[in-house]
Amino acid sequence: MGWWRAYALLVAMVVLLAGCGAAQTPRDTAVFDGGGRIVIRNVSLVLTMDPKLGAGPLGQLQDADVLIDHDRIGAIGKQLSAEGAQVLDGHGKIVMPGFVDTHNHLWQTLIRGCATDKELNGWLAGCVLPLYASAISDADGYAGARLATLDLISSGVTTVNDWSHAFNADFARGNLRALKDSRMRFVFAYGANRKPATLAEIRRVKRESIDPDPLAHLQIAVHPTTANYDNTLAAERLAEELGVPLNVHLHESPADPATGQLDALRRAGALRPGLVTDHDIQMTDAELDELAAHDVRVAHNPLSNMRLASGIARVPDMHARNLKVGLGLDGGTDDGSDFFADMKAAVGLQRAISHDPARFPTPPDVLRMATLGGAEVLGLDADIGSLTPGKKADLQLINPFALDVAPQLDWVSQLVFNAQPANVEWVFVAGRALKRDGRVLGDQPRVIADAQAASDRVQKLLGRNPRPGGR
Ligand SMILES: [Zn+2]
Repeated sequence: MGWWRAYALLVAMVVLLAGCGAAQTPRDTAVFDGGGRIVIRNVSLVLTMDPKLGAGPLGQLQDADVLIDHDRIGAIGKQLSAEGAQVLDGHGKIVMPGFVDTHNHLWQTLIRGCATDKELNGWLAGCVLPLYASAISDADGYAGARLATLDLISSGVTTVNDWSHAFNADFARGNLRALKDSRMRFVFAYGANRKPATLAEIRRVKRESIDPDPLAHLQIAVHPTTANYDNTLAAERLAEELGVPLNVHLHESPADPATGQLDALRRAGALRPGLVTDHDIQMTDAELDELAAHDVRVAHNPLSNMRLASGIARVPDMHARNLKVGLGLDGGTDDGSDFFADMKAAVGLQRAISHDPARFPTPPDVLRMATLGGAEVLGLDADIGSLTPGKKADLQLINPFALDVAPQLDWVSQLVFNAQPANVEWVFVAGRALKRDGRVLGDQPRVIADAQAASDRVQKLLGRNPRPGGR
């Protein structure tokens, strides 16, 4: 062995021992289950999303500490007291609020890859609508939503709006159980019709399952059209009775406006503040004006809109009207839960269509849209969406010193154009860590196997050949 090799070996051993020393710092892992105090120390960049707390519209702070105090943000600042707190090293890391996914259908992980050559109505006919008359079960609803929640958490999503098709009450219960088991914050948009049994079941779910759970919220989901007006009216009345928002798909495919969606909402008195509308692609100036006048909210789903060839939502024109716009993934038609890809698509689509690299949303705009903007869409911005002390501790810690993001130049832009779910190392919801050191909690092999079994059952219910490329 040459002297230089011996020297290199010595250096390597010193580095290794130093590394071991750091790894041996005792960690009270119980605190990560929630209910304790955690200080993330010396975070290189904190995007608070609160302009009062830091520089610029995203409220940026450098080399700052973030204190999680039980389920809330305790404080943000320099040299915070770590007494009685578990310390995480934030040096070289980015901390920001968790993403708010304003529109998803969690069960649709079971139909990933289904009818990828079809537009909306072809895809619905092949992969969704036959299930209304099928024996799709609680176990299927659970397995699909369970897989989706783990994938979302891995991508830094802390709040999800699950628009459940509620093919039957058992299926909806399976969706809801998976949401609860995930420990994510969620809105359950329960698909309603005017059948008394359905309306009674939604009331029961709110009373027994949603109201007692601080992580849970309810919306009423319906498809407004001229032909479905009676259900639209029943859903709007139930939403008013329960004091929760209505949630509808609106003008998604080019065929939608002719079905009378907007008119059904108008006639039912549903155009009111808090109404969540998904997609809003085929919109005239007057229709956007009307939504803005009633403070109607918009869930923008760029990845899904691209996949289904639905078009490009007029997001800059919505922004110019002060419409509240958030981002969504939209389940099986984006084929994944990568919120970074969703942000990049939201920016890229507007640039591609306008030839203007400064077009709304810019990277800072889309980061706000993905967090506080989404919270505003869901009416949850008093509790989440920014790292304002007193709000719920829903946040993520991102490692940008990785192959896909390094080197450091403009981290705000790099979060949008470079980062991927693998860069998300820690995800907290209400102070509980659901992703730790890069690993999502949960029995992943079992979740994947259960989803495969459920997907095989669903393909049979759809009359499709399971796994045509098969194993
Ligand atoms: Zn949808």
